[in-house]
Amino acid sequence: MIIILIFSLDLIFPLQTNPQYSTLITDSDGRVLHAFLNSQDKWRMFTELQEISPKLEKAIIFKEDKWFRWHFGINPIAIFRAGFRNVITGRRTSGASTISMQVVRLLYPKERTYLNKLTEIFRALQLELHYSKDEILQLYVNLVPFGSNIEGIKSASILYFKKSPEVLSLAEITTLTIIPNRPSSLRLGTKNALILKERNKWLKSFQQAGIFDSQTIEDALSEPLNAVRNEAPKLAPHLSVRLQKEYKTIPNIHTSIIRNKQLQIEQIVKNYVSRLFSMNIHNAAAIVINNQTHQVEAYVGSSDFYNPADGGQVDGIQAIRSPGSTLKPLLYATAFDKGIITPKTAINDVPTNFGGFEPENFDKLFHGKVSIEYALANSLNIPAVKVLKEVSTPVFIEKLKKSDFQAIRKNSSKLGLSLILGGCGVTLEELSNLYASFANQGYYAKAKFLKNFSDEAVKGEAIVSPESSFLITQILNQVTRPDLPNNYDYTYRMPKIAWKTGTSFGKKDAWSIGYNAKYTIGVWVGNFSGQGVPELSGANIATPLLFDIFNFTDYNSSEKWFRTPENVSMRKVCAESGDLPEDFCTHQIIDYYIPGVSKMTRCSHLKNIWVNPSETMSFCNRCLPSEGVIQKLYPNLSPELVRFYETRHINYQKIPPHNPDCTRIFNDNAPVISFPTDGSEYFMSKEDNPELLLDCQVNNGVKEVYWYINDKLFKKVPANQNVFFKPEAGKIKISCSDDRGRNTDIWITVKWQ
Ligand SMILES: [Zn+2]
Ligand SMILES: [Zn+2]
Repeated sequence: MIIILIFSLDLIFPLQTNPQYSTLITDSDGRVLHAFLNSQDKWRMFTELQEISPKLEKAIIFKEDKWFRWHFGINPIAIFRAGFRNVITGRRTSGASTISMQVVRLLYPKERTYLNKLTEIFRALQLELHYSKDEILQLYVNLVPFGSNIEGIKSASILYFKKSPEVLSLAEITTLTIIPNRPSSLRLGTKNALILKERNKWLKSFQQAGIFDSQTIEDALSEPLNAVRNEAPKLAPHLSVRLQKEYKTIPNIHTSIIRNKQLQIEQIVKNYVSRLFSMNIHNAAAIVINNQTHQVEAYVGSSDFYNPADGGQVDGIQAIRSPGSTLKPLLYATAFDKGIITPKTAINDVPTNFGGFEPENFDKLFHGKVSIEYALANSLNIPAVKVLKEVSTPVFIEKLKKSDFQAIRKNSSKLGLSLILGGCGVTLEELSNLYASFANQGYYAKAKFLKNFSDEAVKGEAIVSPESSFLITQILNQVTRPDLPNNYDYTYRMPKIAWKTGTSFGKKDAWSIGYNAKYTIGVWVGNFSGQGVPELSGANIATPLLFDIFNFTDYNSSEKWFRTPENVSMRKVCAESGDLPEDFCTHQIIDYYIPGVSKMTRCSHLKNIWVNPSETMSFCNRCLPSEGVIQKLYPNLSPELVRFYETRHINYQKIPPHNPDCTRIFNDNAPVISFPTDGSEYFMSKEDNPELLLDCQVNNGVKEVYWYINDKLFKKVPANQNVFFKPEAGKIKISCSDDRGRNTDIWITVKWQ
């Protein structure tokens, strides 16, 4: 009957045992890094079951409720005894309370009346019905008051003894078990002498009861009590704030942060930024990812979280900024996988117009013919845009989406070729994750902040092949490169890493991201205000900080450098083109390639030309005289390179002018119209009285070109001279013919506004 009653009451009045806990952020060893007040502004830190040591449990049970393990929530004998005493003395005492009843009282604070006492008994039974003894003890430990806004053993243990409950000494445990009886008069830190006396009294009772051996008691009795109220820990603030928001319902958030590393790197960043103060550079962020576990070991969101003047609370690891050149390695890796290029493939760094988009290099110079490897190590822009054009923007954006670049995913429809030069938004975290995949054979896995307790290896998703990751790594660890910091003594204290720098447009962001087999470290330096600074550059400003952090984290890494994947081989190529050598390729070099993937083009850096013996005239098969000619090799230069040499007055070996009596028209070397772009739309505004540029590149030997608008001759000009014209609205045919009659047509549409 009573049992049925209890069960029905249990259904009608369910137990509410959801105390609001403070959020605790712990390091990889489980020690508290950062603590947040709960929603009621209390310190109520959650004690895990394993933090309740046998010593702590023994002391509590002995003090509060000797029959705790045996009763069913209430202790009838104690109740009778207390009731009897109440009748005799006429006073109400609480001596009959079990731990379960105390838990109920802490959960449902009520006035002490006989009716409430009955409810309390019912609730205690209910508690026993739903929870194990261990869980009830845990609730008790988590709810006991310590005066002020401190609740629970863990809060007291952290705030007074700066340690977790499981490592408390017996003296400390005893101290903490007596305070909840009189939390307002036994205030730790202010009433230590009184508490010490009380503590020793209880220690002696423990001794008499024989629940601890006498040596332990002796040690405890002689232990001084120096407890003071400490500030709650506030380390790793950016990550802590982030995780508290992300995991609202979890009281103890166990991160992978390594305390010592975190603190040291915070200090390195802070010191470094203070040295940049005179340049008006105020902020920096850094993240350290362990490549094997994909766990974040240090997270420094700004140079000083507690400095509000420079936006110290902004998290530079999550801020969306322009990546500068830092996406280039992913592009080149994609192109390696497509077989389009290898590290030694030649590419022209010459002024190029990509449909109205005319990028220039960081140093505003053009370098002529360079290798892909040089272009990446020197972060040249034209080659990058050329490679992106060949890979195609949608294909590259797919790669970036696969690598979880959120802002790029969101804005992908608006992104064009300029994306590879920084015309998009990324975060330091996203970039660091990308570089960690180069360290992991091209497998992308998002870095984790929570400690991973399983040993299961995370492989991730393949974004590029192990082969092309390796090629990128080989290029990015070269030390003869311009993006070493100025005057940096790299023979001393330079870590062996692969790294890439980036500087955003307007010198607002300096990036440097590096990795070895063990770690990926990402560094950003700049101003949260977005203010650009002339001195800001990835090489000079971000890289020294990257080196400092790497040297601290993993100097002389115990890990070996990356192994060459099985499917990466070496071959001899022509140094001029990076293609497979022909007999005439006298300068041959070794290049990596991916068999079955990399293209196998034969070199054509020279071509055979019929000339007269004095080399003043060249001939084709049609006009070739039967005698008096010889065959000679001449450089086979593309029109854009010829034009580059011509306009810069750079000497090169020219093919002698073609036989003027020749009747053949060479359509294969017709002028290339570089502006306007075929098929494009041009919007012209009347106010600016604009004219459209006509620009072409011609084969060498050409002296004059003829421009036609809608098949009518517009102008005859020397080759390489720019022409302007004012177009009519509508579709326009533009033709360019050279003095050999070779012709190219394009069509554009013009709209007037
Ligand atoms: Zn060659
Ligand atoms: Zn000819």
